[in-house]
This record gives sequence, structure tokens and C-alpha cells, in this order.
Amino acid sequence: MDIFRDISACFRVSAFVCTLCACSPLAAFTVAEYGKLAADIVLPSQPLAAERYAADELKYHLDKAFGSSAAILTEDALARSKYRNHIFVGATAAAKRAGLPGRPFVADEHIVKTAGNALFLLGYDSDVSYEGVTRDLWRPTLYATVYAVYDFLENEMGVKWIWPGPTGEVIPRRRSLRFSSVNRRSREPLADRIMGSMTWNALWVLGFSTYESARAFFDAQAKFLVRHRLGRRRHFRSGHGFTDWWDRFGASHPEYFNLLPGGVRRPAAAGRMVTLCVSEPGVWRQTVADWKKWMDTKGTRQGFEPWVNCCENDYVALCQCHCCRAWDAPDPRFMESPYWNGTVTLDDIESMHRRGNYVFNSLLTDHRWGIMKVDTSLRPVASLSDRYAKFYNAVQAEVRKVNPAARVIGYAYENYLEAPKETRVDPSVVIEIVPRSYFPYDQAESEHFRAAITGWRKAGVKDFIYRPNFMLAGGNYPFDHGRLIVEDFAFAYKNGMKGCSFDSLRGAWACHTMMYYTLIRAFREPLRDYDVSRDELLSTFGPAKKEITRYFDFIRAHTASWTPDEVRRIAWQNPTGNHNGGGSFNTGAAILGDYFDDAFFVKGNKLLDAACAASRGDSMVERRVEFLRKGLGDARLTRLTRIAQKAMDAAPRDKRKADAFKKAFDELVAYRATVEGDFVCNFMYESSKERKGLRWPFTWWKHEPGKTSR
Ligand SMILES: [Zn+2]
Repeated sequence: MDIFRDISACFRVSAFVCTLCACSPLAAFTVAEYGKLAADIVLPSQPLAAERYAADELKYHLDKAFGSSAAILTEDALARSKYRNHIFVGATAAAKRAGLPGRPFVADEHIVKTAGNALFLLGYDSDVSYEGVTRDLWRPTLYATVYAVYDFLENEMGVKWIWPGPTGEVIPRRRSLRFSSVNRRSREPLADRIMGSMTWNALWVLGFSTYESARAFFDAQAKFLVRHRLGRRRHFRSGHGFTDWWDRFGASHPEYFNLLPGGVRRPAAAGRMVTLCVSEPGVWRQTVADWKKWMDTKGTRQGFEPWVNCCENDYVALCQCHCCRAWDAPDPRFMESPYWNGTVTLDDIESMHRRGNYVFNSLLTDHRWGIMKVDTSLRPVASLSDRYAKFYNAVQAEVRKVNPAARVIGYAYENYLEAPKETRVDPSVVIEIVPRSYFPYDQAESEHFRAAITGWRKAGVKDFIYRPNFMLAGGNYPFDHGRLIVEDFAFAYKNGMKGCSFDSLRGAWACHTMMYYTLIRAFREPLRDYDVSRDELLSTFGPAKKEITRYFDFIRAHTASWTPDEVRRIAWQNPTGNHNGGGSFNTGAAILGDYFDDAFFVKGNKLLDAACAASRGDSMVERRVEFLRKGLGDARLTRLTRIAQKAMDAAPRDKRKADAFKKAFDELVAYRATVEGDFVCNFMYESSKERKGLRWPFTWWKHEPGKTSR
């Protein structure tokens, strides 16, 4: 069955189907009265792990809201309940007697419904483990009963989660809660709601001083993401799909691979990055044969969608053969491009490759995000999108012969990101679109992305997976591209985005607060207005709302004061040994000495002082303000460490400079140890980048049970 068609038939127009019951307006459900709970939580007699997790989450929030301890019991003990009202969580017999769920649930669907003295919270659950609710966010883990609880908490109880950890939980205290009848049935609008780096293997530790604080951080972060419904309801294979082909077929089928200058067919860089001769029918047949074998042996059994992964390896597409070139739409940029007009030789490619795997790649595509020494945005990028559209169509036709329901998934990426000009795309083909942008994300990037997705849609594509790279940007320092990111997310949704996988979640919660909140909120309500989410976050600062708004405005204005050209200039002024210059995704902190000045931190702290003063003794608001200050504090020390490193590098024989760097680095590490338990940042992610990209002397250590620190 075509899963997308199935979804859209059920949930046309609105992401959230919401109907208020037409019952008597007098009908009501009482959760608590005069400071006492009036209902207990009832699970099925043999609850699934997801149902138990849902009940625990409900109890946690009820306890905090009403200051008393909610009872959880299983349905077989219902006769002993001392309450007249019950909140039935999951697939209880009571729900069944009440006719729920009615028609069978589909994946990710849930119900919130009152009936007499019962409130039913239930949804489609798979047999996920209790821990799996928060630790298997990459796998299809269906736990919509948990979502039913969150729906109730947000809509009837006014709960919000603004960042991981207790200061990010907004749970209004109340003495009574009574509401008129409710009847909502809804489903997550996106099938895939993914960000990279959401979880941790719980083995190797870096950047945290203790295993406990690392564990606590990742647990709180995952819990937060589940509360915002991140996860996925389906399995499919995508990502660079031909990484082992050179090893498998390099000798036996050279015709599968790109033809380079000089008439050779081989990788321009590492074997895993070789690109294909996509017009070669053997490539289509081999792709389908591999896919069929895998589906027959594993894929079907493991519940994978019948999607054929045609996403190319991680490199610019290179084949110069006549057949591939004949598939390209006419484009004057071919004649202007040194690679396509014959100027670049095999020797040139080899010498560039010696400077790094992606150096040659950088010259053939518009990697604005890469911040190259050579500004490739000035070079003509000949588009191969018609060629790739024809490739996807060819494999789609081939696989249809063996499985009519199968669908090809292929990238819009690198030098085939632009829409095809003259090729209609088979509507069964799913396009995974990877915008070029990295940092900063500005209006020009937004327009570039919108033109690409609109063009592919006009060419016939119905369904997209959105796979942006720009959350890799920067590091644990304040910047905010949230408005454009969220508005483009909505644009993608209106144009066929059915799933989204952001490359990474840096977990810089205290520095990227507004950007993260508004985006994560959009995952489950893609058309939600940016300003609504922004105001929602600002309102959680209560009496300090006006003052905290100034702080977020200050960050946004600072971000907007940098043009991409200026960011590239400071990137080139901060080389890190990598061809991308500084400020790239492994070297984000390299530019900090230039990106900020001392005054930025003085002003930022002053604005937070004002917010603190305005909080009028509301201790939770004060703690939230201090949460933001911890992010700012870490950014300041990261910058000072980078400045000390540059001074050291400029005077390699000056021991005082080396000592000063060590002192700055030690201060940074010591500071992080004091705030690592407050969920302000994924210091494992940040320090791994600082270690890899900037050679800062962090060391990984292995966690051994019983040993709490290195
Ligand atoms: Zn070719």
C-alpha cells in the first residue's frame, strides 16, 4: 500500500483532526478539586511498556501540578479504587467497552476522549521496551498512547516543555481542574521526525566530567524530544547507498562507475565516495537486484518500506560519458565549468585530492555552507538534475516489474540539487532534498531552497524527505536563524514534505534556545506560525517576559548583523588545516574571536541581569534566566580559549602563550563541569568537534560500570 496516499486520504487538509464532541455542554470531567486529586490512572491489566511509560509521565505531571501523589493501578484492581473518576491510559477493557478506538488506529494516531466519569488516553503502540521509548528514537517505535498523554497535558493542563531538564518544564500549579467533554483524534503530520545526535551509545564519554551527568543529559534530552513527538513510524533505507560498490564491482564492472577525464572509470577520491554512471542499465538492474535480495532476506521481515535507495555516495556527480551527458538538459554552465569543458585533467583531480577528500568536490558544486578558501559560489555549477531524474525514473521502471508498490528514493543534492529542467519525474519517486546551506542561513539560502523544492514539485515529485545540514552550524554560542528555518519548514510541508531528518542536534539548549524551541515545535505542527511559538517561549518567563524578549532580540540582531561574505572572510582568516577554513561544522569555534567581541558578553549579561531583576522573586523564572546565562558563560570561555590558541599558534616557541592556552582551556573544562548537570549543552558533541577540528586536548574515556568518572 502506498503509505503516503493512505495517510493523506485519512488526514486530508489538517495535520490535527480535532472535533469537539456535540454532547451536553454540562458534561464535564473533574481531575482535581480544592487541592485534591479526584481521579486515578488506570492501566490495562497487562500493560505494554509504552502504556506504563505514558502512565508514569501522566503521574509525574499531575503530581507537580496538584502537589499530591496520583495513584496508578491496573484495571483488574479497579474495584479497589477510591476514586469515582478514572483516567484510562492505553488499550483498556473500559476503552473497548466505550467503543474505542472505533476504526482501527493507524501508526502514530491517538485519542483523547471523555465519557461520563472516564477520560480515555490511548493510541497506537508497538511492543517497544520501556527504555526504548526514549532510547530508540531512530527506529520506528510507535507509542501514541504516550502522545495522547502529552496532548492532554498540553491542551487541558497548559503544560509546556521548553528545553530538557526540570527548569524547562512548565507545569502550571492549580488546585482544581474540570473541563467540558473532549473528543480529539489526531496523528503526527510527519512520518519521520528526526534529528541527528539525539541519543548516545552510553559507553564512551567526552566533555562531561562524570558518566552520571552525561547519562542524565542524554536521558533528559531524549525525554524532551519524545514529549515533542520526535521519532518515526516507518523504516526505510536512504543515505549514501553505494559506498561498497567500488569494492564489489570495481574490477568486474567498471562500466558502473563515473567516467573521468582521460577516459578512466574510477573514484576521484576515496572508494566509498565514487559516483555512478547512472545512465548505464547495468547500474539500474544491479540496484534492483541488491534491493530485492535484501528485502527477501531481511527488509520485509524487519518491516522496511519497499523503497529502493538510489541516493548517491557523498560526492559531486562526475560521469562525463556520452550517455550521461546526453541525459543532461542544455545548460551554458557546462561550457563555463572547468571540469565539464575539459580544462580539468586527471592530474588536476589527483593533486586536489591529495589536499583532502572533498577538495575537488568543492570546486564542482555550490557548497556555500563549506566556506571554502576558493569561493565556489562564484563558479558556474552545471546542473545534473535531469540526468538524476532520468536515473530515478529508470530504476523506478525496473523495480516496478518485480514489485508494483516499490518506490525509488533519491537525492536532490550537490550538483543535482536544482530542479530538473525538462524531465518529468515518476510520481512514485521520493526525493530526499538536501539544501546547500550551512552557516549563516539567510534570505538568499531560503530562496535557493524554495526554488529547488518548488521546481522538483513542478517536475512531478509528490513526496519529499527534507534533510537539511544547517543545524550543524556553529557551536555552543548564541545565534538565531530560527525564523527562516521554521518558515522554510512550513514551506517544505506545503510542498510535499512527508518526513524530516535534520543532520544534527548540537544540543546547545542554552545558546540556541529560541531556534530549537520554534523548530522542534514545528515538527508536530509544521504550519504553526513562528511568532506563536516564539511568544509561547517568551511567556514562560512570566514577569520577565519583556526583559527576556530584549535578550533574544539582541541575539537575533547580532546574528543578522553578519552577512555570509563576512562570515566567509573570518572563516578564511581562521584556517584550521581543513580546506573549509574555520567556522565549519567541525571547526565552529574557530571564528569566535572575530564573531563576537567582549562587549557582546557584557551586554548579554546585563540584559539577563535585567530579566532576573524583573522576575520579582519567581524562583523558577530566575532559574530559567540563569540557564540562559550558563550558555552565554560557556560561549565566552570557549571564545577566550580560541583566542589563546590563536596567540599560541602565532608564536609556537613562546612557552607563555602555550601556558596561557592551557590555562584558558582548563578554565573552560572546569566551568563545563560546574554546569554539565543543568542540561545546558551536549558537551560531548561540542568537545568532540573542538577536539577533532581545533585539536583541543579533550580525551575520550570509556565508561566502565561502577566507575563514575575518568
Ligand atoms: Zn555515464
